[in-house]
Amino acid sequence: MSQPGQEAVQLLKEYIRINTINPPGDVTAAAKFLQDILEKEGIPVELYWPDKATGRVNLLAQLKGSGKKAPLLMLHHMDVVPVDERGWTEEPFGGAEKDGYIYGRGSLDMKNYGIVQLMSMLQLARHGVKLDRDLLLLAVCDEEIGGELGAGWMVENHWDDMAPEFVLDEGGFGTERFFTDDDRLIFSVGVAEKQMLALNLSVNRAPGHASMPPKESANFILAEALGRIAAYETPENLTPVAKEMEERLGGLEDTLYNSAVKRNTISLTVLNGFVGDPPKTNVIPERSEAVLDCRLLPEQDKDAFLKELTEVINDDRIDIRPIMEPKQESVVSSYDSDLFRVIEEETVAIYPDSVTLPHLVIYGTDSRYFRDRGATCYGFFPGPVHMEEYSRIHGNDERIRTKSLKNAAEIYCNVVRRFCEKG
Ligand SMILES: [Zn+2]
Repeated sequence: MSQPGQEAVQLLKEYIRINTINPPGDVTAAAKFLQDILEKEGIPVELYWPDKATGRVNLLAQLKGSGKKAPLLMLHHMDVVPVDERGWTEEPFGGAEKDGYIYGRGSLDMKNYGIVQLMSMLQLARHGVKLDRDLLLLAVCDEEIGGELGAGWMVENHWDDMAPEFVLDEGGFGTERFFTDDDRLIFSVGVAEKQMLALNLSVNRAPGHASMPPKESANFILAEALGRIAAYETPENLTPVAKEMEERLGGLEDTLYNSAVKRNTISLTVLNGFVGDPPKTNVIPERSEAVLDCRLLPEQDKDAFLKELTEVINDDRIDIRPIMEPKQESVVSSYDSDLFRVIEEETVAIYPDSVTLPHLVIYGTDSRYFRDRGATCYGFFPGPVHMEEYSRIHGNDERIRTKSLKNAAEIYCNVVRRFCEKG
């Protein structure tokens, strides 16, 4: 097959130039961009409109196979998070290439995935490769705000149009200095993800004049509880995936990332306890509240975690209310599969000194909707991303190494071809 790398570079630049910030989350132009490319090469595309007025659209393209095996679905989201332009040295939606990097919002999260998936499909179509299974490309809206009208809506309403056995999604990179403190190149393949639980903590007490403080005030009560939470270290709990990671690497370095792989985490993300705008400094407010963003390990029962946290808070004046909770316990995809082995082999063919390993993704992805329905999902992008580059996701000057994208396109095409081609 011809080399897909250079074409991927050009297409990613064009894709980045389509602004799909969410909110507002209109991805109509992005879907049109993908549709035009696919249809020009004779690949049928269907658009699904969960909410046309706000530009919510999902695109599904399909290359038919013999049906001997069940479908492989390649999934990416078209929307991106907002930018703070003041922190950027390049245009966030300019698609500039400079010093070996392509800059732009979405260059790592996750238009890069979308483009290597697109290239894989185009390559198979161009070469008329006969397939044993259908190859699907699904581009969705709204991942960055939870995915309900995107992947969630497609799984809920159009499962039969997809019914994949395997899904390739985000949640893995060729990492450098994530898991170990040396220069090993480690390709992590997401096989599970943490569950998201958001809790609202609140206290109500009599308001008053700051000159005459009462014995009990909402803010102090909450502050003391938050102090206990801050001092609490959630226990380490190695899931089978984390154990496998340790085994394949000979240990996980003591980093924030690895710490989150090994335990439930608690972040204080919202704190609100005042009246007036600007806040009145001489008024004791009636209500004080906080939001904890908790990320639970896949096997963690959420009620047991709530009980543990309630004991840490140890104050029944505080009302604890879940505002976002996992629907069911999250599922771990098996990494003992032909697809996992193909990923390993094709990756090491291009990066001979690399290690591939299953990975517990510490954030949420659309894969959970598909895992809940029994699909085996892998988060996989076969291009090196240093921790310094990874930190720019959702931050400033998000960028991908051009070389990394080119190699990723090649590996992805090889994986998809080998896995779907008629045996
Ligand atoms: Zn993403």
